[in-house]
Amino acid sequence: MRKYDLIVIGAGPAGLFASINAAACNLSVLLLEKKDRPGRKLLISGSGKCNLTHTGTPDELLSHYNGEEKFVKPAIYAFDNKDLIEYFNKMGVPTLITENGKVFPASFEARDVLNILVDDARRKGVSIKTSCPVIAVKKTNKGFIVKATDKTFESSALLIATGGKTYPWTGSEGDGYRFAKALGHTVISPEPALAPFFIENFSLGELSGLSFKAARVSLWKNERKIVEKVGPLLITHKGFSGPVILHLSREAQTGDEVLINFLDIDPEKLKNDLLTQKNMLVRTSLKKLGYPLSLVDKIMQNCGVSLKTNLSVLIKAKRKCLIKALTSYRVKITKAGFQFAMVTKGGVRLREVNPKTMESRKVQELYFAGEILNIDGETGGYNIQFAFSSAYLGAKAICHRLCSL
Ligand SMILES: Cc1cc2nc3c(=O)[nH]c(=O)nc-3n(C[C@H](O)[C@H](O)[C@H](O)COP(=O)(O)OP(=O)(O)OC[C@H]3O[C@@H](n4cnc5c(N)ncnc54)[C@H](O)[C@@H]3O)c2cc1C
Repeated sequence: MRKYDLIVIGAGPAGLFASINAAACNLSVLLLEKKDRPGRKLLISGSGKCNLTHTGTPDELLSHYNGEEKFVKPAIYAFDNKDLIEYFNKMGVPTLITENGKVFPASFEARDVLNILVDDARRKGVSIKTSCPVIAVKKTNKGFIVKATDKTFESSALLIATGGKTYPWTGSEGDGYRFAKALGHTVISPEPALAPFFIENFSLGELSGLSFKAARVSLWKNERKIVEKVGPLLITHKGFSGPVILHLSREAQTGDEVLINFLDIDPEKLKNDLLTQKNMLVRTSLKKLGYPLSLVDKIMQNCGVSLKTNLSVLIKAKRKCLIKALTSYRVKITKAGFQFAMVTKGGVRLREVNPKTMESRKVQELYFAGEILNIDGETGGYNIQFAFSSAYLGAKAICHRLCSL
Protein backbone atom coordinates (compact mmCIF):
# COMPACT_ATOMS: atom_id res chain seq x y z
CA MET A 1 0.00 0.00 0.00
CA ARG A 2 1.35 3.44 -0.91
CA LYS A 3 2.07 5.54 2.15
CA TYR A 4 1.35 9.29 1.85
CA ASP A 5 3.13 11.91 3.90
CA LEU A 6 -0.23 13.46 4.73
CA ILE A 7 -3.87 12.47 4.45
CA VAL A 8 -6.40 15.27 4.77
CA ILE A 9 -10.02 14.33 5.47
CA GLY A 10 -12.56 16.80 4.07
CA ALA A 11 -12.26 19.05 1.02
CA GLY A 12 -13.84 22.22 2.37
CA PRO A 13 -11.80 25.44 2.45
CA ALA A 14 -9.74 24.17 5.42
CA GLY A 15 -8.91 20.79 3.86
CA LEU A 16 -8.18 22.22 0.42
CA PHE A 17 -5.94 24.99 1.73
CA ALA A 18 -4.08 22.68 4.10
CA SER A 19 -3.45 20.28 1.20
CA ILE A 20 -2.21 23.09 -1.05
CA ASN A 21 0.25 24.35 1.54
CA ALA A 22 1.50 20.90 2.50
CA ALA A 23 1.99 19.95 -1.15
CA ALA A 24 3.85 23.24 -1.68
CA CYS A 25 6.64 21.89 0.52
CA ASN A 26 6.83 18.73 -1.55
CA LEU A 27 4.87 16.44 0.73
CA SER A 28 2.75 13.74 -0.91
CA VAL A 29 -0.83 14.63 -0.01
CA LEU A 30 -4.04 12.65 -0.35
CA LEU A 31 -7.26 14.62 0.12
CA LEU A 32 -10.35 12.52 0.78
CA GLU A 33 -13.82 13.99 0.23
CA LYS A 34 -17.06 12.26 1.02
CA LYS A 35 -19.20 14.07 -1.56
CA ASP A 36 -18.89 13.81 -5.33
CA ARG A 37 -17.38 17.32 -5.45
CA PRO A 38 -15.22 19.35 -3.06
CA GLY A 39 -16.44 22.47 -1.27
CA ARG A 40 -20.20 22.14 -1.35
CA LYS A 41 -20.61 24.37 1.69
CA LEU A 42 -18.20 26.94 0.31
CA LEU A 43 -20.40 27.16 -2.79
CA ILE A 44 -23.45 28.21 -0.75
CA SER A 45 -21.54 30.51 1.59
CA GLY A 46 -22.63 34.13 1.62
CA SER A 47 -25.72 33.13 -0.40
CA GLY A 48 -23.44 31.85 -3.15
CA LYS A 49 -21.33 35.01 -3.13
CA CYS A 50 -18.82 33.77 -0.53
CA ASN A 51 -17.95 36.32 2.12
CA LEU A 52 -14.29 35.32 2.32
CA THR A 53 -13.10 37.46 5.17
CA HIS A 54 -13.49 40.86 6.80
CA THR A 55 -11.44 44.03 6.79
CA GLY A 56 -9.59 45.16 9.90
CA THR A 57 -6.25 44.63 11.58
CA PRO A 58 -5.39 41.10 12.73
CA ASP A 59 -6.14 42.18 16.30
CA GLU A 60 -9.55 43.45 15.26
CA LEU A 61 -10.31 40.09 13.62
CA LEU A 62 -9.45 38.27 16.85
CA SER A 63 -12.34 39.87 18.72
CA HIS A 64 -14.92 38.14 16.48
CA TYR A 65 -14.38 34.60 17.72
CA ASN A 66 -16.61 34.68 20.80
CA GLY A 67 -13.86 34.96 23.39
CA GLU A 68 -11.39 32.51 21.82
CA GLU A 69 -8.88 35.21 20.81
CA LYS A 70 -5.99 33.43 22.44
CA PHE A 71 -6.51 30.23 20.48
CA VAL A 72 -7.09 31.83 17.06
CA LYS A 73 -4.28 34.40 17.40
CA PRO A 74 -1.33 32.32 16.09
CA ALA A 75 -3.39 31.15 13.11
CA ILE A 76 -4.67 34.63 12.22
CA TYR A 77 -1.20 36.11 12.69
CA ALA A 78 0.28 33.39 10.44
CA PHE A 79 -2.25 33.99 7.65
CA ASP A 80 -4.47 37.04 8.03
CA ASN A 81 -7.10 38.73 5.88
CA LYS A 82 -4.47 40.57 3.81
CA ASP A 83 -2.71 37.26 3.07
CA LEU A 84 -6.00 35.71 2.07
CA ILE A 85 -6.90 38.60 -0.25
CA GLU A 86 -3.38 38.56 -1.72
CA TYR A 87 -3.55 34.81 -2.35
CA PHE A 88 -6.78 35.11 -4.33
CA ASN A 89 -5.64 38.24 -6.19
CA LYS A 90 -2.44 36.44 -7.17
CA MET A 91 -4.46 33.47 -8.36
CA GLY A 92 -6.58 35.71 -10.59
CA VAL A 93 -9.59 36.28 -8.32
CA PRO A 94 -9.86 39.98 -7.51
CA THR A 95 -11.78 40.82 -4.36
CA LEU A 96 -13.93 43.74 -3.27
CA ILE A 97 -14.98 45.18 0.07
CA THR A 98 -18.60 46.08 0.76
CA GLU A 99 -19.49 49.15 2.83
CA ASN A 100 -19.78 47.06 5.99
CA GLY A 101 -16.25 45.68 5.64
CA LYS A 102 -17.09 42.25 4.20
CA VAL A 103 -14.69 40.90 1.57
CA PHE A 104 -16.07 38.99 -1.45
CA PRO A 105 -14.68 37.81 -4.77
CA ALA A 106 -15.34 40.75 -7.14
CA SER A 107 -17.47 38.42 -9.27
CA PHE A 108 -19.65 37.61 -6.21
CA GLU A 109 -19.29 33.98 -7.29
CA ALA A 110 -18.30 31.41 -4.67
CA ARG A 111 -17.54 29.08 -7.58
CA ASP A 112 -14.55 31.26 -8.57
CA VAL A 113 -13.08 30.79 -5.09
CA LEU A 114 -13.62 27.04 -5.12
CA ASN A 115 -12.25 26.59 -8.65
CA ILE A 116 -9.01 28.35 -7.69
CA LEU A 117 -8.54 26.13 -4.64
CA VAL A 118 -9.20 22.90 -6.53
CA ASP A 119 -7.00 23.94 -9.49
CA ASP A 120 -4.19 25.02 -7.17
CA ALA A 121 -4.37 21.75 -5.22
CA ARG A 122 -4.25 19.68 -8.43
CA ARG A 123 -1.41 21.79 -9.85
CA LYS A 124 0.63 21.24 -6.69
CA GLY A 125 0.15 17.49 -7.00
CA VAL A 126 -2.50 16.88 -4.34
CA SER A 127 -4.33 13.65 -5.08
CA ILE A 128 -8.04 14.43 -4.58
CA LYS A 129 -10.44 11.53 -4.16
CA THR A 130 -14.11 12.47 -4.16
CA SER A 131 -17.09 10.20 -3.31
CA CYS A 132 -14.74 8.71 -0.76
CA PRO A 133 -16.28 8.89 2.73
CA VAL A 134 -13.85 8.06 5.50
CA ILE A 135 -15.44 5.73 8.03
CA ALA A 136 -12.65 5.13 10.54
CA VAL A 137 -9.14 6.27 11.46
CA LYS A 138 -6.51 4.52 13.52
CA LYS A 139 -3.11 5.51 14.88
CA THR A 140 -0.34 2.95 14.58
CA ASN A 141 3.31 3.22 15.59
CA LYS A 142 4.12 4.04 11.95
CA GLY A 143 1.46 6.67 11.33
CA PHE A 144 -2.24 6.52 10.49
CA ILE A 145 -4.56 4.05 8.81
CA VAL A 146 -7.54 5.76 7.21
CA LYS A 147 -10.41 3.54 6.22
CA ALA A 148 -12.83 4.74 3.55
CA THR A 149 -15.91 2.78 2.46
CA ASP A 150 -14.11 0.77 -0.20
CA LYS A 151 -10.39 1.38 0.35
CA THR A 152 -7.82 1.82 3.09
CA PHE A 153 -5.04 4.42 3.02
CA GLU A 154 -1.91 5.01 5.04
CA SER A 155 -0.01 8.17 5.97
CA SER A 156 2.60 9.61 8.30
CA ALA A 157 0.45 12.58 9.32
CA LEU A 158 -3.31 13.12 9.40
CA LEU A 159 -5.26 16.38 9.25
CA ILE A 160 -8.97 16.26 9.99
CA ALA A 161 -10.96 19.07 8.33
CA THR A 162 -14.45 17.59 8.22
CA GLY A 163 -16.19 20.81 9.31
CA GLY A 164 -19.09 21.00 11.74
CA LYS A 165 -22.64 19.67 11.57
CA THR A 166 -24.68 22.36 9.85
CA TYR A 167 -26.30 22.05 6.41
CA PRO A 168 -25.55 18.31 6.61
CA TRP A 169 -26.43 17.75 2.93
CA THR A 170 -23.17 19.54 2.07
CA GLY A 171 -21.27 16.64 3.65
CA SER A 172 -20.54 18.17 7.06
CA GLU A 173 -22.42 15.74 9.26
CA GLY A 174 -20.10 15.61 12.25
CA ASP A 175 -18.12 12.50 11.17
CA GLY A 176 -14.89 14.15 12.27
CA TYR A 177 -16.09 14.30 15.87
CA ARG A 178 -16.26 10.51 15.83
CA PHE A 179 -12.72 10.25 14.46
CA ALA A 180 -11.41 12.75 17.02
CA LYS A 181 -13.07 10.82 19.86
CA ALA A 182 -11.67 7.51 18.57
CA LEU A 183 -8.21 9.09 18.73
CA GLY A 184 -8.72 10.15 22.35
CA HIS A 185 -10.06 13.69 21.99
CA THR A 186 -12.91 15.35 23.85
CA VAL A 187 -15.64 16.88 21.72
CA ILE A 188 -17.63 19.77 23.17
CA SER A 189 -21.27 19.05 22.39
CA PRO A 190 -22.08 20.57 18.96
CA GLU A 191 -24.92 23.09 18.81
CA PRO A 192 -26.26 25.23 15.98
CA ALA A 193 -24.96 28.83 15.94
CA LEU A 194 -25.60 31.70 13.55
CA ALA A 195 -29.14 30.34 13.24
CA PRO A 196 -32.39 32.13 12.40
CA PHE A 197 -35.37 32.11 14.75
CA PHE A 198 -38.72 30.61 13.80
CA ILE A 199 -41.97 31.86 15.35
CA GLU A 200 -45.07 29.73 15.66
CA ASN A 201 -48.11 31.30 13.93
CA PHE A 202 -45.91 34.20 12.87
CA SER A 203 -48.13 37.23 12.34
CA LEU A 204 -45.55 39.19 10.30
CA GLY A 205 -44.73 36.37 7.86
CA GLU A 206 -46.31 38.16 4.90
CA LEU A 207 -43.73 40.96 5.36
CA SER A 208 -40.96 38.47 4.51
CA GLY A 209 -37.97 40.27 2.99
CA LEU A 210 -38.52 43.48 4.97
CA SER A 211 -35.31 44.56 6.71
CA PHE A 212 -34.23 47.11 9.28
CA LYS A 213 -30.72 48.60 9.42
CA ALA A 214 -30.43 48.89 13.18
CA ALA A 215 -33.05 47.09 15.25
CA ARG A 216 -32.50 46.61 18.98
CA VAL A 217 -33.15 42.99 19.92
CA SER A 218 -32.87 41.41 23.35
CA LEU A 219 -32.98 37.73 24.23
CA TRP A 220 -34.94 36.63 27.32
CA LYS A 221 -34.80 33.36 29.26
CA ASN A 222 -37.32 32.81 32.04
CA GLU A 223 -38.11 36.54 32.23
CA ARG A 224 -34.40 37.39 32.51
CA LYS A 225 -32.61 39.39 29.85
CA ILE A 226 -29.57 37.42 28.63
CA VAL A 227 -28.13 39.64 25.95
CA GLU A 228 -29.08 42.63 23.83
CA LYS A 229 -27.71 43.71 20.46
CA VAL A 230 -28.35 46.34 17.82
CA GLY A 231 -27.94 45.48 14.16
CA PRO A 232 -29.57 44.59 10.86
CA LEU A 233 -32.78 42.56 11.20
CA LEU A 234 -34.62 40.63 8.50
CA ILE A 235 -38.21 39.40 8.58
CA THR A 236 -38.58 35.97 6.96
CA HIS A 237 -41.64 33.83 6.15
CA LYS A 238 -41.15 31.90 9.34
CA GLY A 239 -39.63 34.41 11.77
CA PHE A 240 -36.55 36.58 12.09
CA SER A 241 -33.03 36.47 10.71
CA GLY A 242 -30.27 38.95 9.78
CA PRO A 243 -26.97 39.65 11.56
CA VAL A 244 -28.51 40.82 14.86
CA ILE A 245 -30.49 37.55 15.19
CA LEU A 246 -27.58 35.37 14.04
CA HIS A 247 -25.38 36.94 16.72
CA LEU A 248 -27.96 36.37 19.44
CA SER A 249 -28.63 32.80 18.34
CA ARG A 250 -25.42 31.56 19.93
CA GLU A 251 -26.99 32.11 23.38
CA ALA A 252 -30.56 31.19 22.40
CA GLN A 253 -32.60 28.07 22.97
CA THR A 254 -36.04 27.08 21.79
CA GLY A 255 -38.61 28.50 24.21
CA ASP A 256 -36.67 31.72 24.87
CA GLU A 257 -38.26 35.05 23.97
CA VAL A 258 -37.01 37.98 21.92
CA LEU A 259 -38.02 41.57 22.35
CA ILE A 260 -37.65 43.70 19.25
CA ASN A 261 -37.50 47.48 18.90
CA PHE A 262 -37.62 47.71 15.10
CA LEU A 263 -36.10 51.20 14.75
CA ASP A 264 -34.43 51.37 18.15
CA ILE A 265 -36.68 54.30 19.07
CA ASP A 266 -37.26 55.20 22.72
CA PRO A 267 -40.90 54.28 23.50
CA GLU A 268 -41.33 57.58 25.40
CA LYS A 269 -40.23 59.53 22.34
CA LEU A 270 -42.66 57.58 20.18
CA LYS A 271 -45.44 58.26 22.67
CA ASN A 272 -44.66 62.00 22.71
CA ASP A 273 -44.60 62.12 18.92
CA LEU A 274 -47.96 60.42 18.69
CA LEU A 275 -49.41 62.74 21.35
CA THR A 276 -48.05 66.03 20.03
CA GLN A 277 -48.72 65.61 16.31
CA LYS A 278 -52.40 66.27 15.70
CA ASN A 279 -54.45 66.23 12.57
CA MET A 280 -52.50 63.53 10.89
CA LEU A 281 -53.26 59.92 10.06
CA VAL A 282 -51.60 57.51 12.49
CA ARG A 283 -49.94 55.64 9.61
CA THR A 284 -48.58 58.89 8.10
CA SER A 285 -47.13 59.88 11.44
CA LEU A 286 -45.43 56.49 11.88
CA LYS A 287 -44.16 56.55 8.30
CA LYS A 288 -42.60 59.96 8.97
CA LEU A 289 -40.69 58.41 11.85
CA GLY A 290 -39.16 55.91 9.43
CA TYR A 291 -41.39 52.84 9.86
CA PRO A 292 -42.09 51.02 6.58
CA LEU A 293 -45.77 51.30 5.72
CA SER A 294 -46.15 47.55 5.29
CA LEU A 295 -45.09 47.05 8.91
CA VAL A 296 -47.25 49.94 10.12
CA ASP A 297 -50.32 48.57 8.36
CA LYS A 298 -49.77 45.10 9.76
CA ILE A 299 -49.21 46.36 13.31
CA MET A 300 -52.28 48.63 13.08
CA GLN A 301 -54.31 45.67 11.89
CA ASN A 302 -52.96 43.52 14.77
CA CYS A 303 -53.88 46.28 17.26
CA GLY A 304 -57.34 46.72 15.74
CA VAL A 305 -56.69 50.28 14.53
CA SER A 306 -58.28 51.25 11.22
CA LEU A 307 -55.81 52.57 8.62
CA LYS A 308 -57.90 55.74 8.35
CA THR A 309 -57.57 56.58 12.04
CA ASN A 310 -56.42 60.10 12.83
CA LEU A 311 -54.03 60.74 15.73
CA SER A 312 -56.64 63.02 17.33
CA VAL A 313 -59.01 60.08 17.87
CA LEU A 314 -56.44 57.40 18.75
CA ILE A 315 -57.49 56.09 22.15
CA LYS A 316 -54.89 55.41 24.87
CA ALA A 317 -55.20 51.60 24.80
CA LYS A 318 -54.67 51.47 21.02
CA ARG A 319 -51.75 53.92 21.21
CA LYS A 320 -50.15 51.72 23.85
CA CYS A 321 -50.67 48.65 21.70
CA LEU A 322 -48.97 50.30 18.69
CA ILE A 323 -46.03 51.56 20.75
CA LYS A 324 -45.55 48.15 22.32
CA ALA A 325 -45.67 46.35 18.98
CA LEU A 326 -43.13 48.71 17.40
CA THR A 327 -40.68 49.05 20.29
CA SER A 328 -41.21 45.89 22.37
CA TYR A 329 -42.45 43.24 19.94
CA ARG A 330 -42.19 40.16 22.12
CA VAL A 331 -42.37 36.59 20.83
CA LYS A 332 -41.33 33.11 21.82
CA ILE A 333 -38.77 31.62 19.45
CA THR A 334 -37.83 28.24 18.08
CA LYS A 335 -34.14 28.22 17.31
CA ALA A 336 -33.40 26.74 13.89
CA GLY A 337 -31.49 23.45 14.00
CA PHE A 338 -28.41 22.20 12.19
CA GLN A 339 -30.27 22.21 8.84
CA PHE A 340 -30.52 26.01 8.88
CA ALA A 341 -27.64 27.18 11.09
CA MET A 342 -24.51 28.55 9.45
CA VAL A 343 -21.91 27.28 11.90
CA THR A 344 -21.47 24.82 14.71
CA LYS A 345 -20.71 25.93 18.24
CA GLY A 346 -18.74 23.14 19.92
CA GLY A 347 -16.25 20.67 18.46
CA VAL A 348 -12.79 19.39 19.33
CA ARG A 349 -11.76 20.80 22.72
CA LEU A 350 -9.24 23.61 22.19
CA ARG A 351 -7.17 22.73 25.26
CA GLU A 352 -6.25 19.47 23.53
CA VAL A 353 -4.84 21.18 20.42
CA ASN A 354 -1.69 23.30 20.20
CA PRO A 355 -2.80 26.68 18.77
CA LYS A 356 0.70 27.35 17.40
CA THR A 357 0.69 24.24 15.18
CA MET A 358 -2.90 22.89 15.15
CA GLU A 359 -1.37 19.59 16.26
CA SER A 360 -3.19 17.38 18.73
CA ARG A 361 -1.69 17.44 22.22
CA LYS A 362 -2.83 13.83 22.57
CA VAL A 363 -1.65 12.20 19.36
CA GLN A 364 1.56 13.17 17.56
CA GLU A 365 1.20 14.06 13.87
CA LEU A 366 -2.56 14.42 14.15
CA TYR A 367 -3.80 17.88 13.15
CA PHE A 368 -7.13 19.71 12.96
CA ALA A 369 -8.24 22.73 10.91
CA GLY A 370 -11.44 24.71 10.38
CA GLU A 371 -14.86 24.31 11.86
CA ILE A 372 -14.27 20.88 13.42
CA LEU A 373 -12.52 22.78 16.21
CA ASN A 374 -14.53 24.39 18.99
CA ILE A 375 -14.35 27.77 17.24
CA ASP A 376 -17.33 29.63 15.84
CA GLY A 377 -16.81 33.09 14.51
CA GLU A 378 -19.35 35.84 14.01
CA THR A 379 -21.04 36.38 10.68
CA GLY A 380 -19.01 38.59 8.31
CA GLY A 381 -16.34 36.28 6.85
CA TYR A 382 -14.68 35.24 10.10
CA ASN A 383 -15.42 31.51 9.76
CA ILE A 384 -13.92 31.12 6.31
CA GLN A 385 -10.95 33.24 7.42
CA PHE A 386 -10.37 30.83 10.32
CA ALA A 387 -10.66 27.83 8.01
CA PHE A 388 -7.85 29.28 5.85
CA SER A 389 -5.70 30.52 8.74
CA SER A 390 -5.84 27.27 10.73
CA ALA A 391 -5.23 25.22 7.57
CA TYR A 392 -2.20 27.32 6.68
CA LEU A 393 -0.73 27.09 10.17
CA GLY A 394 -1.37 23.34 10.39
CA ALA A 395 0.19 22.70 6.96
CA LYS A 396 3.29 24.73 7.83
CA ALA A 397 3.70 22.76 11.06
CA ILE A 398 3.29 19.46 9.21
CA CYS A 399 5.90 20.53 6.63
CA HIS A 400 8.26 21.53 9.40
CA ARG A 401 7.82 18.27 11.28
CA LEU A 402 7.96 15.86 8.33
CA CYS A 403 10.75 17.66 6.52
CA SER A 404 12.91 17.64 9.64
CA LEU A 405 12.50 13.88 10.17
C1 LIG B 1 -25.46 28.72 4.35
C2 LIG B 1 -24.08 29.05 4.88
C3 LIG B 1 -23.50 30.25 4.54
C4 LIG B 1 -22.23 30.57 5.05
N1 LIG B 1 -21.67 31.75 4.67
C5 LIG B 1 -20.45 32.08 5.15
C6 LIG B 1 -19.80 33.26 4.71
O1 LIG B 1 -20.27 33.96 3.80
N2 LIG B 1 -18.60 33.58 5.30
C7 LIG B 1 -18.01 32.79 6.26
O2 LIG B 1 -16.94 33.14 6.75
N3 LIG B 1 -18.59 31.64 6.63
C8 LIG B 1 -19.77 31.25 6.09
N4 LIG B 1 -20.33 30.05 6.46
C9 LIG B 1 -19.54 29.14 7.31
C10 LIG B 1 -18.42 28.50 6.48
O3 LIG B 1 -18.95 28.05 5.25
C11 LIG B 1 -17.79 27.34 7.24
O4 LIG B 1 -17.36 27.78 8.51
C12 LIG B 1 -16.59 26.79 6.47
O5 LIG B 1 -17.02 26.22 5.24
C13 LIG B 1 -15.86 25.72 7.29
O6 LIG B 1 -14.85 25.18 6.50
P1 LIG B 1 -14.28 23.72 6.80
O7 LIG B 1 -13.37 23.42 5.66
O8 LIG B 1 -13.79 23.64 8.16
O9 LIG B 1 -15.55 22.74 6.72
P2 LIG B 1 -16.60 22.47 5.56
O10 LIG B 1 -16.67 23.58 4.60
O11 LIG B 1 -17.83 22.05 6.25
O12 LIG B 1 -15.96 21.23 4.78
C14 LIG B 1 -15.85 19.96 5.37
C15 LIG B 1 -15.73 18.93 4.26
O13 LIG B 1 -15.45 17.65 4.84
C16 LIG B 1 -16.17 16.66 4.15
N5 LIG B 1 -16.35 15.49 5.01
C17 LIG B 1 -17.09 15.41 6.14
N6 LIG B 1 -17.04 14.16 6.64
C18 LIG B 1 -16.24 13.44 5.81
C19 LIG B 1 -15.82 12.10 5.79
N7 LIG B 1 -16.23 11.22 6.71
N8 LIG B 1 -15.00 11.68 4.78
C20 LIG B 1 -14.59 12.55 3.83
N9 LIG B 1 -14.98 13.84 3.79
C21 LIG B 1 -15.79 14.28 4.77
C22 LIG B 1 -17.49 17.36 3.82
O14 LIG B 1 -18.17 16.71 2.77
C23 LIG B 1 -17.02 18.76 3.47
O15 LIG B 1 -16.75 18.89 2.09
C24 LIG B 1 -21.56 29.68 5.93
C25 LIG B 1 -22.15 28.46 6.24
C26 LIG B 1 -23.39 28.14 5.72
C27 LIG B 1 -23.99 26.81 6.05
